[in-house]
Amino acid sequence: MAKIVILGGGVGGTIVANQVAKQMSNALSQGQLEITVISDSEQHVYQPMFLYVAFDQVMPGEAKKPERDILDPRIKMVIGSAERIDREKKVVLMSDHRAVPYDYLVIATGSRPAPELVEGLPEGGHIFYTEEGAMKLRRALHDFQGGRIVITVGVPHKCPVAPLEFTFMLQEWAKAKGIGDKTEIVYTYPIGRIHSLEPVSEWATPVFEERKIESHIFFNPEHVDPVKKEITSLEGETLHYDLLVAVPPHTGQDVIGRSGLGDAGNWIPTDRTSLRMQGADDIFVLGDATNLPISKAGSTAHFEADVVAANLVSLLQGGFGSVTYNGKVFCFIETGLNKATYITFDYAHPPKPTAPSEMIHMFKLAYNRLYWLTPAGLL
Ligand SMILES: Cc1cc2nc3c(=O)[nH]c(=O)nc-3n(C[C@H](O)[C@H](O)[C@H](O)COP(=O)(O)OP(=O)(O)OC[C@H]3O[C@@H](n4cnc5c(N)ncnc54)[C@H](O)[C@@H]3O)c2cc1C
Repeated sequence: MAKIVILGGGVGGTIVANQVAKQMSNALSQGQLEITVISDSEQHVYQPMFLYVAFDQVMPGEAKKPERDILDPRIKMVIGSAERIDREKKVVLMSDHRAVPYDYLVIATGSRPAPELVEGLPEGGHIFYTEEGAMKLRRALHDFQGGRIVITVGVPHKCPVAPLEFTFMLQEWAKAKGIGDKTEIVYTYPIGRIHSLEPVSEWATPVFEERKIESHIFFNPEHVDPVKKEITSLEGETLHYDLLVAVPPHTGQDVIGRSGLGDAGNWIPTDRTSLRMQGADDIFVLGDATNLPISKAGSTAHFEADVVAANLVSLLQGGFGSVTYNGKVFCFIETGLNKATYITFDYAHPPKPTAPSEMIHMFKLAYNRLYWLTPAGLL
């Protein structure tokens, strides 16, 4: 019996599991194939909702569903934390000493916001990248009556458009709350323009000017003084804040480092088209966990999952697993509370943001509700 193990029950891992189950339905039912998803949480989390939780537009419960309800019932689930991947023995070792053997392994462990990498940030700043962080920020925004809000961004981080979305939404939120003229918004960004994707930066720069949003480039957060309410960059600039909101630097998961599979940031060296771990024929990597220089986004994980699933099906049927990933990414960008734009791009084609519209915003909200069809393999 062939054994496929998928480490990570988030967007990428769940899509792969359900797609392989669907395409190899007979083999699965006849006991010739076993698919196992390992996840350290019983819940499947749709993280983009946290942006809306922070603005009190959505309740956190809407961001979660039991993973078991999303997976094909024939897929096995192992709940627990993976401690180490033993490539020689082809087994995933769990922290409770269970061992999960594989013929093919898919690593989809995502990424982790690491605010502790910026001294003082956990105490002095807010993040909206976790449920707990979004809830705390929701309270802080509720209590906020005006002042200076600084947005700071560390690298690398998932969802590269989220800092822009948060900034645009924040400005309209302050106006709607009646404190627009008492609220100063300061956006900082680590490189020499306001977004890593040049066309997005070219599109957003005049929007910032028009809306009078102050921006500071070449600002890599280095330390925060929660008492003085100051943030200082590696470049030596210090900014005062009344409220600090950070998209902190991210790392890959510790299990990757413990297994000796990652680089210094626990990102896994991955072939950009085959999505195999470099130097491995039996391990695929997708989503945030890769070291690929593309956006770490749910849509990236989704498009990559299609490729990984197709290759697994091919290999299981005696093929060579030659389907390739072209670097495709799709991101909606909220440009306020009522309008949005979107970008789509791949390795060969840069993004071209279009004019924001209410309709695109409505599409984004609709997708947020329809999301659950995605990991189920229906959308
Ligand atoms: C606020 C916010 C807004 C966002 N907005 C967007 C957006 O608009 N569009 C978009 O495309 N993307 C967006 N994203 C990014 C998107 O959520 C991620 O890029 C996506 O979830 C990555 O998918 P993944 O499958 O790689 O990892 P994840 O979905 O993070 O799943 C990783 C899984 O691995 C499990 N895991 C990790 N380590 C272990 C271990 N040791 N043992 C067992 N299980 C483990 C985790 O529990 C989790 O189930 C946003 C993210 C945030 C935080």
